[in-house]
Amino acid sequence: MALLFQILIAIVIGGAIGGWMPTIGENIAFLGELFLRGLLMLVVPLVMTSMIVGIGNLGDVRHMGRLGVRTVIYYTVTTAISVMIGIILVNVIQPGVADSPAAQLALRGGERVEQVTYQLKGDRLTVTGSSLRRDYDDRYAVTLLDHPTISGTISPDDDDNPNTLTIEAWNDDQGEAVEWDQPQTGRGVLIDLAISGKMRDKSGSAWEAIEQVIVGFIPRNIFESMANNEVLPLIVVSLTFGAILTTLGQPGQSLIRSFNTLNDAILVMINLLMKFAPIGIGALIAGRLATAGGFAGFIPELLRIGKFAGTTILGLVIHGVIVLPLLLALLTKRSPLTYAMGCVPAFLTAFSTASSSATLPVNLECCIEKNRVTPQIADFVLPLGATVNMDGTALYEAVAAIFIAQIYGIALSPIQMVVIFLTATLAAVGAAGIPEAGLVTMAIILKAVGLPLEGISLLLLADWFLDRCRTTVNIWGDAVGAAILDEVDKNDETIGLDDDGVALSR
Ligand code: ASP
Repeated sequence: MALLFQILIAIVIGGAIGGWMPTIGENIAFLGELFLRGLLMLVVPLVMTSMIVGIGNLGDVRHMGRLGVRTVIYYTVTTAISVMIGIILVNVIQPGVADSPAAQLALRGGERVEQVTYQLKGDRLTVTGSSLRRDYDDRYAVTLLDHPTISGTISPDDDDNPNTLTIEAWNDDQGEAVEWDQPQTGRGVLIDLAISGKMRDKSGSAWEAIEQVIVGFIPRNIFESMANNEVLPLIVVSLTFGAILTTLGQPGQSLIRSFNTLNDAILVMINLLMKFAPIGIGALIAGRLATAGGFAGFIPELLRIGKFAGTTILGLVIHGVIVLPLLLALLTKRSPLTYAMGCVPAFLTAFSTASSSATLPVNLECCIEKNRVTPQIADFVLPLGATVNMDGTALYEAVAAIFIAQIYGIALSPIQMVVIFLTATLAAVGAAGIPEAGLVTMAIILKAVGLPLEGISLLLLADWFLDRCRTTVNIWGDAVGAAILDEVDKNDETIGLDDDGVALSR
């Protein structure tokens, strides 16, 4: 309780410092980095030892198999519910649909500037009579109102003049290059997000992305995966290794015992590290808010996509506060409130680090020590869940993909909705437990339904905040899973069938 209280105070202080005094926030950010490093350095040894120990202590291969199957069922069902919530909300609230075409354009970050004159000389376009609302970059294209079929991609420049744009290239609606022989003048310009196809070509097809997820299960080199904190391949290796140790008789058992000791030692290190958690978490929040320019820089960005952010957060709240606790209450004898209280340090670590992997040590500690989940079960369910089971990310990805379709005014068919449902689940499995990984795997969904990848860029600036919210739900889903699977496992009278098909009891 004391720790919890300290962390909460630290968050308020950290938030105030980062929000109102960004310079100080930047200066104390290194304290957060220290905490983050402490967590991250423990991830690889923790994942490996806890997986080997988890499998080793389960004893019977059939027992292991059943826990594995149940875990996968739990992950799939809860992720599917969460994506469903997201899809329903985004279709009902329609955050990407504005009342007027002008507001719709503003949602895309573009604008139509009429009653001005423009002048085009070489690659310079000067708009006079009104200043452009913002600095545009190469995600945006400009169309001259007098030549509506021709558009030019804007090139980022260091020119401070808000009325001048540098144009990379002009193309007509067939994609042919257009050269202007003469300087042009005219009555106005339209600036809108470009759908260039450029990004699409570069990143290949949806199937390639899916292949990458699958191939990522097996490490090319174990040490490379360790060095890069790639949890998924290490889980596969450790599971196999642990399972094999259980078949090697006495020598195998003694190695499992050594891994047990290693695992215990790592848990003690986590305990020590948690004493530093209030300062670490407070500083991480101060530092991140400071990087976003304090409240003054961050709040307008969040408000710009406010309805989208609100839809995502509402979905996360429904899943995290209603669905998961309900499952916990129905399937175990635990009180969701007490269980959640035990997990608060993990929630706050997830919120401040935006990484399920970095939160894994804390989540394990909370589940095993505070909530008394059987260690073998937690050792198996949590590391796997930290990288595979991401309810919050899946919900976010589905909402974001449909939001992008809405802002571009692209209608999605029911089949495309189903494709989004399936690929959002997959994209969440493929997302690593690191900050903003979900944004990267979102390409899988967008490609699968043919939406412009450029849409992702609209979400970039405020994503760090939503990332923290979804990461918190991600690790809560794992923690609830550990309790449910523990309960189911305890109620298991039999541990499988013997060779004659007779049930074996524990
Ligand atoms: N940051 C998330 C996590 O670690 C992944 C994501 O949604 O970007 O769980």
